[in-house]
Amino acid sequence: MKAPDLPALTATSSVCRACPRLVAWREAVAADKRKAFAEEPYWGRPVTGWGSERPTVVMVGLAPAAHGGNRTWRIFTGDRSGDWLFASLHRVGMAMQATSVAAGDGQQLVDARMVASVRCAPPDNAPTPLERDSCAGWLDAELRLILPCARAVVCLGGYAWDSVARAMTRLGFDVPRPRPRFSHGASYEVDRLHVIGSYHPSQQNTFTGKLTERMLDEVLAEANQLAGNSA
Ligand code: SF4
Repeated sequence: MKAPDLPALTATSSVCRACPRLVAWREAVAADKRKAFAEEPYWGRPVTGWGSERPTVVMVGLAPAAHGGNRTWRIFTGDRSGDWLFASLHRVGMAMQATSVAAGDGQQLVDARMVASVRCAPPDNAPTPLERDSCAGWLDAELRLILPCARAVVCLGGYAWDSVARAMTRLGFDVPRPRPRFSHGASYEVDRLHVIGSYHPSQQNTFTGKLTERMLDEVLAEANQLAGNSA
């Protein structure tokens, strides 16, 4: 899949129906809704990347949350993972506001962009390998457009770590072999790009203390600094 620019990519990918299971799930969640959001419209479609069109830092996650991005249209917006992530992004100077709750909330990323490895919310946050591969074309298309400006890529979780390495290999980057193992703070440099791993800001990680505010701040600040955007 190729697109001449990000608006064209957003337009084409946001109507994709290539994965029957995910289409059914995203639409069922949007129809049933969570009680707390019963009066709100749900997006219920693929969630495209958002943020700067010329980012120096790119953040990659797994997929939109069923009642987060699948509801609000923006990845990491309107869910607990996003609450953690945006508080940290704001602390290190990469987001204008400390919260991200809705597409019209005025939030802006500073020289940064977010994208999901898989654009539709999957049951149990677990896309199948076939669904991952089906969506890879959209990820490749977005990275092809934004990586020329980027200096750092933050992979939020092991799934994103793998999907970024796969995508960059497909795009012709000389990704080290064997692929570096994922851990919090793991990194490698490839063709002037710094690729950095972070534990995902999921409740499973933040409630248990596996990921602390300080740990997340350090990784994001490092990425921002490597990209030349010191706070
Ligand atoms: Fe299309 Fe990706 Fe959604 Fe599958 S996950 S339907 S490929 S946008």
